[in-house]
Amino acid sequence: MHWGTALLFALVSSLAQAAELRDLRVWESPESTRVVFDMNGAARASVFTLANPDRVVVDLDGLDGASIKRAAAAAPKGLVRQIRSAPREGGIRVVLDVTGAVSTRKLDLTPNDEYGHRVIVDLARDAAALSDADAGDAPAVRSPAPAGQIASAPLPGTTRLQDKPIVIAVDAGHGGEDPGARGTSGLLEKSVSLSIARKLALLINTQPNMRAVLTRDGDYYVGLRQRVEIARKHQADMFVSIHCNAFTRRDMQGTAVYVLSDRGVTSEQARWLANKENAADLVGGVELHGKDNDLAAVLIDLSQSATMEASFDVGSRILRAMGQINSLQKQDVQQAAFVVLKAPDIPSVLVETAFITNPREEKLLADDDYQGKLAASILSGVKGYFQAYRPKQQMVEAAPRLTKVSAASASGARNRPLADD
Ligand SMILES: [Zn+2]
Repeated sequence: MHWGTALLFALVSSLAQAAELRDLRVWESPESTRVVFDMNGAARASVFTLANPDRVVVDLDGLDGASIKRAAAAAPKGLVRQIRSAPREGGIRVVLDVTGAVSTRKLDLTPNDEYGHRVIVDLARDAAALSDADAGDAPAVRSPAPAGQIASAPLPGTTRLQDKPIVIAVDAGHGGEDPGARGTSGLLEKSVSLSIARKLALLINTQPNMRAVLTRDGDYYVGLRQRVEIARKHQADMFVSIHCNAFTRRDMQGTAVYVLSDRGVTSEQARWLANKENAADLVGGVELHGKDNDLAAVLIDLSQSATMEASFDVGSRILRAMGQINSLQKQDVQQAAFVVLKAPDIPSVLVETAFITNPREEKLLADDDYQGKLAASILSGVKGYFQAYRPKQQMVEAAPRLTKVSAASASGARNRPLADD
């Protein structure tokens, strides 16, 4: 046979072959458990639940039955006690033995930069946890307001300020399915951002009358809009998102701080970066409905200008403080359309701490002490803002008290029929 013909024949027969299951991963978050099926081609997935014992059955049609061995390595986690699998007519059946009755949600995701075809099955005890719009509670590390302040009668005009500690939503970028950017030595942005976020949250909680809320406190993905919802639910006074920058050129370096812009961007590079960060939802496995986009746009128009001024102010304070410990990629606060900054009423900034793709900065980002310095300089910018804009009594010394609150302070049960496809 002619080589060309043989090649063509091989190509055609490989196209006719069923797709393979490549990997099966399980991620655990405080509210739900996510099971991800990685495939090198599209498959038709159906999901249903069975009781006695409780289990979730995932049928993947159009997959090569032999690739079932890939499912064997997956470790059960969270609501999943055990994973069993077997080839079936035209595909694969995976049975997830679960710890009790669960609701399910299935997402079919098309390939992106990070992954090929994926089927995601989310499991939760409370069906509400599976709805993007109805964001779950955040894993919060709380330091409650001193008891005396809660009881005292508020002064006119200072009601909210006196009664409530300053709440900072600290958002560790990426997580779980979405690793974010990757350093040349293999360091992942999702791990660095979480580590810095945790350090920042602890520092915040040692401040008098300040409290941190982490939008995630583990290796799992939280949707971009859900991060904003968590901040709003906790009545956050500020939202700080922590990331590492990345670029194809390894010599790119320095810190940059961003605030939202819907109308223009500071530079082409800012646009590129925002597109990259916004793609997190595609990688992290969030179904994009784009439903209340119009409403969001109106809200942004109504109240964004005051919030923007505050965002710029705190952004430049953070930038100046970080300039003490790292070079700055940009001397001014930059603007781009980051989804995670779209809370119309909460001053929000996104900090690109350093370039994970720059070997020297990657080493710094991996360093525990340096992470602490980054967190401390972010805090100093945040504090500077509140010292300038909040009444003096807000910042008085008070003995900080740290209380770890269980993340599973779940809401009331709202029963919705099981999604069974
Ligand atoms: Zn990022």
